[in-house]
Amino acid sequence: MTSNNNILEITHLEKNYQDTIDEIKAIEDFSFKVEKGKFISIVGPSGCGKSTLLSILAKLEDKSSGEITFNKDNIVLGYMLQKDSLFPWLTILDNCLLGLEIKGIKTEENISYVNHLLDSYGLTEFKDKYPSSLSGGMRQRVALIRTLAIHPDILLLDEPFSALDAMTRVALADDLYKMIKKEGKTVLMVTHDIAEAVSLSDIVIVLTKRPAKIKTIYEIEFEDRKTPFENRSKKEFNIYYEKIWRDLDVHI
Ligand code: ADP
Repeated sequence: MTSNNNILEITHLEKNYQDTIDEIKAIEDFSFKVEKGKFISIVGPSGCGKSTLLSILAKLEDKSSGEITFNKDNIVLGYMLQKDSLFPWLTILDNCLLGLEIKGIKTEENISYVNHLLDSYGLTEFKDKYPSSLSGGMRQRVALIRTLAIHPDILLLDEPFSALDAMTRVALADDLYKMIKKEGKTVLMVTHDIAEAVSLSDIVIVLTKRPAKIKTIYEIEFEDRKTPFENRSKKEFNIYYEKIWRDLDVHI
């Protein structure tokens, strides 16, 4: 346990996969402290180890070595993937209640919180419909409500917008940002989209190509921080974008 404002401390994290022939090092010496309430994005080349990092934090995969310390007992983690993974045979409301059901905390209070979230995000009239009748953006919003329903302390978002078209993803990023800030959540988001990372985040961590190591950490400061969409037209936005682009050293 730590006594500061860091909700999560990662120290010298390493991950190696053993394939049939040799060992693949996915993460090397990754250390980072996550301050409560911050929105942190992790960007890096494709295949560098971003998803691996998130799934280790979500306790879905084991680390090879290093320390992961959550500064809270019984920490609740909300994990959301790029595919909304809604169940087609469940209504929107039942999909949203699924996490509560699994955790055995489907209380009146939690159900009413879900209804409140559905209402706030314009989905009340769809709550008895099935996922197939919703657009991609709406489904992703439902997936976020399902994730928020369990009152997570930390949200782990793995490319949450990448399955959407360009216009929907910008609009949904704005929505998601508002939801998350209103709920006061800490976020770790993996993305390959520099614009998304800069416009949404307090901090952007740039990773090297595999094995993922921290290359640079940017504290994103806008003179007048607005919504992610509006941040995109600020002068600071282009400066960060260019620096991160250079760090990533993309070759076609
Ligand atoms: P990213 O999310 O940055 O695109 P990933 O974290 O998915 O990258 O993968 C990082 C590396 O680890 C890749 O080279 C991938 O092939 C390898 N990897 C991921 N999962 C496994 C696994 N279960 N077994 C073996 N190698 C894996």
